Amino acid sequence: MRLIRDRAIILRAVPFEDRHRVVTALTESHGRISALARNCVQSRRFGGALELFTASEWDFSHRSDGAELFSLQEAKAVRTHEGIRTQFGLMAMASLLSELMLRVAPEREACLDLFKLHANALAALEEMQDRDLPPLSFLNGYMAKLLQWSGNQPRLQQCLECSRTLQSIWGEERQRSARLTVVVQEAGWICEECRKASLIHIKSRSEHQGVDISEVGADAMADFFMSLVTPIRQVASTAHASSESHAELFQALEALMVYHVPGFDRVPLNSLKFLGLESSWRPPEGPRR
Ligand SMILES: [Zn+2]
Repeated sequence: MRLIRDRAIILRAVPFEDRHRVVTALTESHGRISALARNCVQSRRFGGALELFTASEWDFSHRSDGAELFSLQEAKAVRTHEGIRTQFGLMAMASLLSELMLRVAPEREACLDLFKLHANALAALEEMQDRDLPPLSFLNGYMAKLLQWSGNQPRLQQCLECSRTLQSIWGEERQRSARLTVVVQEAGWICEECRKASLIHIKSRSEHQGVDISEVGADAMADFFMSLVTPIRQVASTAHASSESHAELFQALEALMVYHVPGFDRVPLNSLKFLGLESSWRPPEGPRR
């Protein structure tokens, strides 16, 4: 039996029969993997190494029956992220990040950038113990980086219709309250003037072609672009927009992920309710989809 060693961050653990658990983790070199941890429920065989959010060193192997699950032999905790479990808000946010990663990370395919993003995000959360709730700019920064990784970041800087730049809108103080319209299918945005000028056009696209649009403040969009070039640990401290603006941006980013990221489950994320966030996702109506 050949042992494989890798570093793993726990995303999900579910009971299997009475004494076992199936653990899904994001690994440094094998992407997202699931493994059967035998006899771990009462025996403390793995100590705290299989707790949610824990980063641990795994030794695992292919199972002899060729099953899809790996077999976990050893797991040693490297960083427990214990601080996250001391606060409900931090736990809810870490759970949401885990849910997002479960949907986005490729299975059994190395994705070192995602591993680093997730590890750094958990470290950042642990540093936020003085807050009741982590800021939404942090969540949006994480989602922006997931979109960027998947190759679906919204089109940079320019209005889809008139090519006006975001800087020209954001640069003027009085324009910071300007509204942008995110066109989900095109992963781009339209400025206020163009939206007013072509509202009927956009509406008819929306009604006849099922195009989803979402409104976002220019201030939140500016934070979005800034977060793409800022390490996740600094995203919250460089954001300017209000939490209301970030709640809107969250809905736009979620809609972009639902539409553009392959395999992204078309059901609302479970942890949203614990963060007071609403999903933009509406169940499909009748025969349209
Ligand atoms: Zn425009």
